[in-house]
Amino acid sequence: MVARDGCAVAVHKTPLLCCMAMRPIDLHCHSTVSDGMLAPAELVARAAANGCRCLALTDHDDLDGLATAAEQARALGIEFVAGVEVSVSWQGTTLHIVGLGIDPTDAALQQGLQQVRSGRAERAEQMAAGLARAGIAGALQGAYRYASNPALISRAHFARYIVEQGRARNTSAVFKRFLVKGKPGYVKHQWASLGEAIEWIRGAGGLAVVAHPGRYRISAAQMQDLVREFRELGGAAIEVITGSHSTDDYKRFDAITHDAGLLASVGSDFHGPEESWLDVGGVPELPLAATPVWEALGLPVAA
Ligand code: AMP
Ligand code: MN
Ligand code: MN
Ligand code: MN
Repeated sequence: MVARDGCAVAVHKTPLLCCMAMRPIDLHCHSTVSDGMLAPAELVARAAANGCRCLALTDHDDLDGLATAAEQARALGIEFVAGVEVSVSWQGTTLHIVGLGIDPTDAALQQGLQQVRSGRAERAEQMAAGLARAGIAGALQGAYRYASNPALISRAHFARYIVEQGRARNTSAVFKRFLVKGKPGYVKHQWASLGEAIEWIRGAGGLAVVAHPGRYRISAAQMQDLVREFRELGGAAIEVITGSHSTDDYKRFDAITHDAGLLASVGSDFHGPEESWLDVGGVPELPLAATPVWEALGLPVAA
């Protein structure tokens, strides 16, 4: 596997390719409950086989995989953190806020996520209409075929259908051509507010984390605003090491996190064997100036 900056990134199953030590902690990944390709139990088994010692499942806007994943983690002797990745609209940009160490039975969190999920069906219909105008027929039914959990129909499911139709080489090409702002399948959408997401996560006993900040198309000044606002609202951590960051991003967000007095989080953001930069179960072990979030989560295995 080759990272964006050209450096070979370790995949646990192919140790000959490794040029970097891996930290056996992964605090961000997806199962079929959202847009991942492995069922929760399979995902945890893959992480364990990859040497993972501490895993958080963080499906988009849904908690349904957590009980099964926790049970599998117990059976395989790895530490499990209940998580979620909440979709948020902030200053016209979609952000993702991960919650770690949440109580999945918390009623306010469940209700909030239900409300976030409820807009997805209508959005999917509009996306399909836009794609039909661009000559891609049958996208609604096609995307739902890939969505094990129909309540969580997402752009990733549309992308898989469009690849299947031979309209693009892979899902990243689909996004560029069809699914990002200004493209035919993009539909503007209102998710939760930043304050709501943080409140739901904290109310459920969890820590809020800004996911993959390097992916947001916002200015440096907006990034400063975001970090300040996030901290003022009670946010705890920023993802520094994730599958979608370059090595420059690692350095930039470690410094931003450290300077803001926030904690650093790490996670693969694994979705499936062919769609992700990092395999599930670990992240490159790089020195961090910022304090790691797992210290605050009290995870003995991760220490
Ligand atoms: P949605 O929540 O429906 O907007 O879908 C967002 C999901 O689409 C993300 O969580 C990723 O899994 C996937 N995604 C977003 N941007 C890209 C991209 N450029 N390439 C591949 N997948 C992407
Ligand atoms: Mn996703
Ligand atoms: Mn995300
Ligand atoms: Mn994710």
